[in-house]
Amino acid sequence: MTVLVDGFGRRITYLRVSVTDRCNLNCFYCIPGREGCLDGGQLLSLEEVVRIADVAAACGISKIRLTGGEPLLRPDLTELVRRLREVPGIRELSLTTNGMLLDTLARPLAEAGLQRVNISLDSLLPENFSGITRGGTLERVLGGVRAAREAGLYPIKINVVLLKGINDGEIADFAGLTLADDYHVRFIEFMPVTAEEERWREHYLPLEAAMAECTRLGPLVEEPGPPNGGPARYFRLAGARGNIGFISPLSRHFCGDCNRLRVTAQGKLLPCLLREQAIDLRPLLPDTAEIAAAFVKALLAKPDPTSLAADPLVRCRPFITKMAAIGG
Ligand code: SAM
Repeated sequence: MTVLVDGFGRRITYLRVSVTDRCNLNCFYCIPGREGCLDGGQLLSLEEVVRIADVAAACGISKIRLTGGEPLLRPDLTELVRRLREVPGIRELSLTTNGMLLDTLARPLAEAGLQRVNISLDSLLPENFSGITRGGTLERVLGGVRAAREAGLYPIKINVVLLKGINDGEIADFAGLTLADDYHVRFIEFMPVTAEEERWREHYLPLEAAMAECTRLGPLVEEPGPPNGGPARYFRLAGARGNIGFISPLSRHFCGDCNRLRVTAQGKLLPCLLREQAIDLRPLLPDTAEIAAAFVKALLAKPDPTSLAADPLVRCRPFITKMAAIGG
């Protein structure tokens, strides 16, 4: 089997594919405005996504996560999942969603072969949730979480972006969800990815503060994360069925463990979230060797993890305004 190893010995097995840059929410920390949305014609087609996945798998990618924008807005998503599950070598297929449409789509997606979902959920209070997402409905997302459980999309990861002064009062409530159910609740540091630096300074909360807040429910015992599980550090409260993850791209960045490449909704292969460089896969799609060569080129373009700027504002600058197209 081919293995993708970059110039710094990191084995790259994971591809994140954005399938649309449209979103049905408008989270203040993610999308600066709606101007950047593409029309459907510019998006990779189902056949194009499958083609890229095929070659990526032959190159050594074994895990694909679909993201967006909001991937559930894509009308052919269920069919796309079904086709990706048939790609030889893809052993894990998951999806990141805001959950707004999951109540009806969880079952068809699971039946098509989707294995897991990450659900973004930043507040358990209806008004707070609506304020953060600028229009989202908490009850619908909770319905989506229930539907995902019923459809067997385990384990369900709940991603919470930590926002000082907005949801930091709910940290223990989120952690408490892991006591009775086997959720993986993952706290993520707010990254300065929109141009509003002031807002970032006001609401950024380092993860240590969230960890301290969780210990109000009892001591946290560290445990190994799932294999291929990405950058979170995992902990468990005594007797809890689920666990708590902490993802700290800023206070303790984890580029040294990076195992991923990304493809945008328009077919740009990105070696690194924090660099401008992108390889346009679309013109290469007729030629398998050229797509494979692009993967190797992307691999070699992954930066030295020790060369990235220490200042998060400098480090994240290339990433500004791109979140909706890349999908985190
Ligand atoms: N619509 C899907 C969703 O809501 O999960 C997928 C796309 S969304 C861009 C993917 C993830 O990026 C979400 O978990 C979201 O919370 C996270 N995200 C967006 N902006 C962020 C920021 N400024 N800092 C940290 N995480 C961010």
